[in-house]
Amino acid sequence: MRVGIVGAGISGLVTAWLVDGRCDAVVLEARSRVGGNARSVAGWAAGVPGAFDLGTQEVAADDSGPHAALLAALGVDGRHVVDVPSSHTFTAGGTTAPLLVDDHPGRPAHVGRGPLRERVRAFLDGMGPTPDRDVPFGAVLAPLSPAPAVRDHVLCALPASLFGCPVAEVPRLSAPVVLAYLHGVADDTAPRVRVLRGGMESLAWALAAQLTSTEIRTDAEVDRVEPARDGYVLVDAAGRRCAVDQVVLAVPPPTAVRLLPASVPGPAVPLRRFTSRPVRYALHLDPAYLPGDRALWSTHNVVAHDGWAETSTWCGPSHGVDVFKSQITHRAPPRRVLATSTFQALTPTTDVVDAQRELAAWQGREGLHFAGHHTTGPGDQDSAIASAVAVARRIAPGSTRLRSLPAP
Ligand SMILES: Cc1cc2nc3c(=O)[nH]c(=O)nc-3n(C[C@H](O)[C@H](O)[C@H](O)COP(=O)(O)OP(=O)(O)OC[C@H]3O[C@@H](n4cnc5c(N)ncnc54)[C@H](O)[C@@H]3O)c2cc1C
Repeated sequence: MRVGIVGAGISGLVTAWLVDGRCDAVVLEARSRVGGNARSVAGWAAGVPGAFDLGTQEVAADDSGPHAALLAALGVDGRHVVDVPSSHTFTAGGTTAPLLVDDHPGRPAHVGRGPLRERVRAFLDGMGPTPDRDVPFGAVLAPLSPAPAVRDHVLCALPASLFGCPVAEVPRLSAPVVLAYLHGVADDTAPRVRVLRGGMESLAWALAAQLTSTEIRTDAEVDRVEPARDGYVLVDAAGRRCAVDQVVLAVPPPTAVRLLPASVPGPAVPLRRFTSRPVRYALHLDPAYLPGDRALWSTHNVVAHDGWAETSTWCGPSHGVDVFKSQITHRAPPRRVLATSTFQALTPTTDVVDAQRELAAWQGREGLHFAGHHTTGPGDQDSAIASAVAVARRIAPGSTRLRSLPAP
């Protein structure tokens, strides 16, 4: 059987890695390199070569999840990963004194934690059990009615920055997704996250390097998927044609809608329910968006301004060097820019939960499959990997590599 996988992001490559050896596969990628939202830039970190992430950058430091299982299966060990604290500093735009400063190892005891810390802690402590995924965050906010500053500059600011949506839209997001990111904010101990020393894009390379029966074609944007007598023909923008038996669309929802073969129009309905927004990032050397006092820096520094919230990640704790990765969609760029890139960030509203359920009903019909972080769970890297596992279990249930990853 020949499988055509459209998109060489993490979900497309994990799908290829899982079916490899059981099927002939071809991965067609529009860009000139693999990785999708995993985009790393080679640099210099504390006297040695290192890589800095412009896109997806971290996962929870949790050894039981799909990401940890994938790293283990690929032979990525402790030399290549670093677990760092995930701390936050929240500031209102146009002001200099932070509203909330998380604890962070090494932060001097005399440094204040900001006027909102205790109120945010009280809000998070006062919540009941985590609600279902189709409950909006607004339903959690309403009964506890936090003060506008707590709501707009912290509780809604952090998810707004992560998903690139207006602060006012956060109450429409799925409550457990929002709460997962608020976990640890204003806590006594910062939770830990995991980054790859070689950058997240190195994971894409590691997957590609282990493929034996799979061809990867970059600069091969798929223009259409034509139904054929025994399957489909993938036609790229240069007119090259590739006949396959089954197709995996591991591309963002708007592209998947455009590529749906005329014979299977149904999935367009759930796919159109996903929304995303452009978010622009810069890697830079000047601490343009961090407090003037270095003792107030956190790994994540969120500034709420003009109805938006944008974050600046300090790479010091992970890379040992003052490089910053900042969102610059709605604010003036920094001065010492090393690299920039624009991404489409999924908005995880409760509509997404319904869309995922509806899309699941179409999976595998007529030999057509959908992978991608949008299809499963909260839309993170674990979701992207879990989506690939679900697709591979249908296409190549006998794959031995499936045993190394948790079943969705
Ligand atoms: C800026 C950003 C930061 C993120 N940070 C994190 C993080 O730190 N931790 C985390 O867990 N999750 C994060 N995520 C969420 C998500 O888990 C990751 O983005 C994940 O890498 C997505 O993988 P994917 O394969 O689903 O999609 P993508 O990475 O979007 O891959 C889709 C691929 O399809 C290709 N493609 C599109 N159209 C075509 C076409 N017509 N023909 C051929 N190829 C095509 C694209 O070029 C791309 O390579 C982040 C998301 C964004 C946008």
